Amino acid sequence: MIQLLAPRPGLLSEASSRFYRESHKGLTCTTVEPCKWIRKSFMRILSPRLDLTEFFHRIPAVKERVLMLDYDGTLAPFQVRPERALPYPGVANALEELVSDRGTRVVIVSGRRAEDLASLLPLAKRPEIWGGHGWERLLPSGEHRTQEPKPGTRQALEQAAHSAQEFLVRSGARVERKPASIALHWRGLPALAVAKIQQRVQAAWSPLAKAGELELLAFDGGIELRATGCNKQHAVKAVLSETCGDSAVAYLGDDITDEDAFAAIKPRGIAVLVRPEYRDTSADVWIRPPRELLSFIKRWRVKGRRA
Ligand SMILES: [Mg+2]
Repeated sequence: MIQLLAPRPGLLSEASSRFYRESHKGLTCTTVEPCKWIRKSFMRILSPRLDLTEFFHRIPAVKERVLMLDYDGTLAPFQVRPERALPYPGVANALEELVSDRGTRVVIVSGRRAEDLASLLPLAKRPEIWGGHGWERLLPSGEHRTQEPKPGTRQALEQAAHSAQEFLVRSGARVERKPASIALHWRGLPALAVAKIQQRVQAAWSPLAKAGELELLAFDGGIELRATGCNKQHAVKAVLSETCGDSAVAYLGDDITDEDAFAAIKPRGIAVLVRPEYRDTSADVWIRPPRELLSFIKRWRVKGRRA
């Protein structure tokens, strides 16, 4: 049964109520009494296909549970210096407990290097990490699998890095090299400086992307020139191919780059947008970090532990 939870009158602020009405325009909503958990930490249901209460009720009974999570903006607030982006308070502990329970396969899926994430999220039992938008896989055993882009693509990325260094001198932007991409970060810079950098990087990198082996993608706080062939969707599909049909699976992410993963997870599970502010998305649920994120993880753990 498709159940669309509509908030009781008076439960939301006027702004939130307006958003809810807009996002469900044309749909018939049933106003229901929110369950205790939802009342304590309201989660916004965006998809009429989703019965979130039923989803959580299934977790104890299924054979496998898989929770996939993006890192930056989802588990950790953004920082001007990405290497300082530590998880929100309580998040590392919540994941530590979830991994230790062994009832859920926890998978981190990020655009960062896998080894960098292992340092930022140093759990006693390391979860599986997919880095570089799916080009790297770091297993809990420590085994590190990587795919390499074609030699010509790597050469083009080197050329992009070189050109960026030339025009970025004194701009304040930072270049991050990854196995199959190069990212330009401008978080924290004045809007005028960002506009100039955007203009120059578009001019320098767009011709490289036109060849078809590379794509230019914006992300929250920068832009990335990335080898085609792998993205977060590939990571999600690979994990799902190893997961039986009788499973509970979810993917949590914040950025446009997570929309690929949302599309991959939805036929089998739920897509959760984790952001302080709403944006257009194909996700099924929207939650705000860190409180609602922690509620989600803890609720998942309680249900999974009972299995
Ligand atoms: Mg993110």
